[in-house]
Amino acid sequence: MSVKFHLVTLFPEFFESPMEVSLVGKAIDEGTIEIEFHNPRSHGAGVHRQVDDAPFGGGAGMVMAPGPLAETLDPLATTYRVLLTPSGAPLSQDHLDRFACIDELTLVCGRYEGIDQRIVDNFIDEEVSLGDFVLLGGEVAAAAIIEGVARLLPGVVGNPESTVNESFRGDGLLEEPHYTRPSEFRGWAVPEVLLSGDHKRIAAWRREQRLERTRKRRPDLIPE
Ligand code: SAM
Repeated sequence: MSVKFHLVTLFPEFFESPMEVSLVGKAIDEGTIEIEFHNPRSHGAGVHRQVDDAPFGGGAGMVMAPGPLAETLDPLATTYRVLLTPSGAPLSQDHLDRFACIDELTLVCGRYEGIDQRIVDNFIDEEVSLGDFVLLGGEVAAAAIIEGVARLLPGVVGNPESTVNESFRGDGLLEEPHYTRPSEFRGWAVPEVLLSGDHKRIAAWRREQRLERTRKRRPDLIPE
């Protein structure tokens, strides 16, 4: 199982470091994920390779023009094309689970005020947002998707159970708190139950912690 990402971005250099480090770098080295860059600037107009223009109707900022984007996206028609935009559905684990099963995924990163709507209407399969805030471009959101998908692919995370027993999985709750050695640190003790060796009590404590944390922080995740 592997995923090939096509990144449509005016700033491919943005990805240099995040794609090199840690498990994403390893996934690329081992061929579990592949990344190909497509820069709309290569199809830009004139000597300056212009890719943006003023908005029809007036208003602040510039809009990414349809021409360079269409030429960039034409050869990617057989891939699943996702646009990163604040107007999209909030990114969730469900998206990542789904994207991890797609052979070729195109991530389109906007810049400026965004991209011409005709490109959205005619080239994009799905719109995804990183959250209710506005970034300078879609690159951070694309990097989040790549990292979230990579860790779901076989062999990337050492222990596959790590991607099963975690927040939003199973009972759908937030994860319980974790502790490691030493059992006492600066006078702060680890909850006694975790040192008891009683697996039934530990499981019950963990479930209670998940429920309490989720009730306080994300009541929307508690099943009806
Ligand atoms: N004018 C747009 C709006 O009000 O929704 C914001 C444009 S933003 C400055 C430029 C680009 O950054 C967007 O086209 C999008 O690709 C990306 N972007 C910004 N915030 C994002 C978010 N929360 N999720 C995903 N992409 C985002």
